[in-house]
Amino acid sequence: MNEADQRIGVAIDPTHGKAVDNEQLQAWDAQHSWHPFTPMRQYLTSDPLMIVQGQGVKLQATDGRWYYDGCSSIWLNIHGHRHPYLDTALQRQLAKVAHVTMLGQANVPATLLAKRLVDVVPPGLTRCHFSDCGATAVEIAVKTAIQYWHNLGQPKKQQIVGFENNYHGDTLGAMAVARSDFFHSPFLTLLPPNHQLPYPICPDQADPTAGETCDPALGQDLETLLQQQGEQIAAVIVEPVQGAGGILPAPPGFLQLLRQICSRHNVLMIVDEVATGFGHTGDWFACTREAVTPDILCLGKGLSGGYLPIAATLTTESIYEAFLGEIAEQKTLYHGHSFAGNPLAAAVSLASLDLMPRLIQSLPPKIELLHRRLAALSDQPHVWQVRQRGLMAGVTVCRDRGTGERFHFSQRAGYVVAQHARELGLILRPIGDVVILMPPPCISLEDLDQLLDQFLEAFDRAAETWATKSQDTETQDTDT
Ligand SMILES: *Cc1c(COP(=O)(O)O)cnc(C)c1O
Repeated sequence: MNEADQRIGVAIDPTHGKAVDNEQLQAWDAQHSWHPFTPMRQYLTSDPLMIVQGQGVKLQATDGRWYYDGCSSIWLNIHGHRHPYLDTALQRQLAKVAHVTMLGQANVPATLLAKRLVDVVPPGLTRCHFSDCGATAVEIAVKTAIQYWHNLGQPKKQQIVGFENNYHGDTLGAMAVARSDFFHSPFLTLLPPNHQLPYPICPDQADPTAGETCDPALGQDLETLLQQQGEQIAAVIVEPVQGAGGILPAPPGFLQLLRQICSRHNVLMIVDEVATGFGHTGDWFACTREAVTPDILCLGKGLSGGYLPIAATLTTESIYEAFLGEIAEQKTLYHGHSFAGNPLAAAVSLASLDLMPRLIQSLPPKIELLHRRLAALSDQPHVWQVRQRGLMAGVTVCRDRGTGERFHFSQRAGYVVAQHARELGLILRPIGDVVILMPPPCISLEDLDQLLDQFLEAFDRAAETWATKSQDTETQDTDT
């Protein structure tokens, strides 16, 4: 890396064309940005990071420091930042065309990508519908499922069954299959009640070599619901590991069980692998590991290696065929997004897929290292539960493990740990009282080990913070 590359805080004022310093940038961010999924008042007092550049598994901020990207830039990054192979693929495509529409016409990279994806996803998924984010991949899945039954003359099959605590994105359709009283309270009248079944989770650090069958009793709720109301149900949607729910892995074999139940009751199975796809679970897809072919598969996040927005909804040939007919029969899926099949994103996705087979082979020792080192957290008085599937880990913290007392969400307990991690050089993005660790799968064993030093240290420091705080509270209590 040359010296010019290391300069930070060099940006150009868009209005006057002059160089601006970091303080100016921070002030503009505070004045004009509205950050996604971010409580803005708290953000503004948090001395937020402003990222300048990335290299491999690290990111540099305007403070000059390099940080481990411990959340893979929110579960997207697979091969690291500024990977020469991905960068080159992108530059080559840029020399041809940046964007053209896929409405009624094709482009070269999107065509190649559809073919490549069909080769790597579970067999039987033959059709690839591109869009630009995970939420749109889910919208397409849900609308495809409902219209499929409509086209087959079963218009009553409209409901989608989800699981409690699930997350499928933030657009209304995706929210409608993952209704949450907490996150969606202003919108509940727009979200028709849907079925949410209990989601079974592996209660503790899942053994990566655990068996591949799960207790059939875990399917009983779904079985009963489909027996009683299957005529109104179009599909079941599931995350193999609930991501935004706090990294909650379903027991191995659960997808297989759902597959059997859905097939038995003539209901489509939608698997949302937006978070779990492309290496994070230790395999191409969670479905690959269980040899399950869903009827509809949603991919996003890591599809482009985390470089550019692109998503895909894959379906079987028989679903696709239900949408063929004369124009007047109105069987077409009238759904599309302007940037669907963007050639730049497709080109970089193809490059990412080239790197996947070797990456997948490199994962077992990393997963094992993560597993071994996370075990140290079982001595932590503020750690309630540690969960892991592949390179995805979620650690729930608590006020007191002895009594099982949990933190209130307003105490932002995960955030406390993340702030300590940041001081140590590690970027995390917690959710409530869950500290999530999801390093880019390309990470080397050495980097993972160092990152884990910081990760574990952050819990020790948070424990000190909480110890001091609770003493404070006690003093206050006695004072009053
Ligand atoms: C992130 C996520 C989505 C939404 O993806 P966006 O690209 O943020 O719209 C959907 N499903 C799952 C499982 C996710 O983790």
